[in-house]
Amino acid sequence: MTILFNDQLISRDEARVDVEDRGYQFGDGVYEVIRVYGGHPFCFGEHLDRLERSAREIRMQLPYPREKTELLLLQLIEANQLKDGYLYVQITRGAAPRDHAFPSKSEPVLTAYAVESQRPTDLMKNGIRAITQEDIRWLRCDIKSLNLLGAVLAKQAAVDAGAQEAILHRNGTVTEGSATNVFIVKDGTLWTHPANHLILHGITRAVTLKLAEKEGIPVREEAFSLEDLRSADEVFITSTTKEIVPVVEVDGVPVGTGQPGLVTRKLQQAFEQRIGVTV
Ligand code: PLP
Repeated sequence: MTILFNDQLISRDEARVDVEDRGYQFGDGVYEVIRVYGGHPFCFGEHLDRLERSAREIRMQLPYPREKTELLLLQLIEANQLKDGYLYVQITRGAAPRDHAFPSKSEPVLTAYAVESQRPTDLMKNGIRAITQEDIRWLRCDIKSLNLLGAVLAKQAAVDAGAQEAILHRNGTVTEGSATNVFIVKDGTLWTHPANHLILHGITRAVTLKLAEKEGIPVREEAFSLEDLRSADEVFITSTTKEIVPVVEVDGVPVGTGQPGLVTRKLQQAFEQRIGVTV
């Protein structure tokens, strides 16, 4: 496997992570997951914008100007002949003697690699089960940081319960999923948590909102409660790798009819048109 290590395309075996890399020790870094369809990165600009924003918010310099990062990632796709899958890209503040405060000298370290994977069409068609979990994460979930323990524990709780995603809430207000954004449909209106510091501003979330607007579906970017979630006609989650996946059961109780709903289906179709997939 050819990976990107700083600005070098090398074999995975050749890469070396310093034991004092701050990403490794503190989770002091940021990342992106970028979907590749037919060899082309989807929403490339939006992902790079978010990467820059995440880095800025943690006061970390990115190693290269935008154009160079862009070129390196395209070369990574090419080197791996990636057609369908995704890129994982992470940048840490680099290696320095262990101290929580920023080091006076450190070079950011970029690692990126390509993963081949198909669209999860089974999940898209049949939906998933979700559980609800208290959102125990920090208050800057808008930063796509490497600190993912809150998400790790929530997702594991879902797996332990035989579900595929954990829907998080703060004191009864639904925020997002462990690795997805959450939408509900109530009386034909689409609801999702506003893009503030409590959720990741999902790229797929933004695409979905635009598609909803185009389809004439009323949208409210407003917080909703666990009761709203439980009484919703439809629930779905969105993410780069999952696209739009219906949630057909929450905490063991069917959502609506227990089948993926019409609004969800409409948005899935619009999404497929957007990415140029014919069904
Ligand atoms: N929310 C969280 C916490 C995530 O980790 C992710 C993706 O990994 C998302 C939402 C979805 O974001 P995107 O659509 O940009 O993949």
